[in-house]
Amino acid sequence: MSHYLPEGLPAPAPSRDGLDAPYWEGTLAEQLVIQRCNSCKTWLWGPEWICHQCHSFDIGWEQTSPEGIIYSWERVWHPVHPAFKEENVPFIVVLVELPQADNVRMVGNLLGDPEQEIKIGSKVKAVFEKHEEGKSPYALVQWEVNQ
Ligand SMILES: [Zn+2]
Repeated sequence: MSHYLPEGLPAPAPSRDGLDAPYWEGTLAEQLVIQRCNSCKTWLWGPEWICHQCHSFDIGWEQTSPEGIIYSWERVWHPVHPAFKEENVPFIVVLVELPQADNVRMVGNLLGDPEQEIKIGSKVKAVFEKHEEGKSPYALVQWEVNQ
């Protein structure tokens, strides 16, 4: 599969403290794995050390459904990084809400025609975009409209 954004952008890396490592391991296995409090069962995103709901330190990781809805979006026309060329814009950034995980929201790109019509509330599914060319393979979670 080709990559949505051009080569030459910085690769994401797990945080030095290891907090988000289970998320990145999950994406490589094509699973959406996010935090869930073991005490009150609230889903959390992005990764945190303390549950914002009940203040417990006992936070685990669970696989959730890779399906969401578009909460917001933006079509980017400005090449925001030197790796972008004229042909790489526009591209679409979406804020996706996960109804099966307490409506936490994740940022990603919307695959497909970069000038497609986008509707708030559209159903989307995760696509795991593998980057295996480097020393540390990783996968980005992208989204596509779920027909
Ligand atoms: Zn909690």
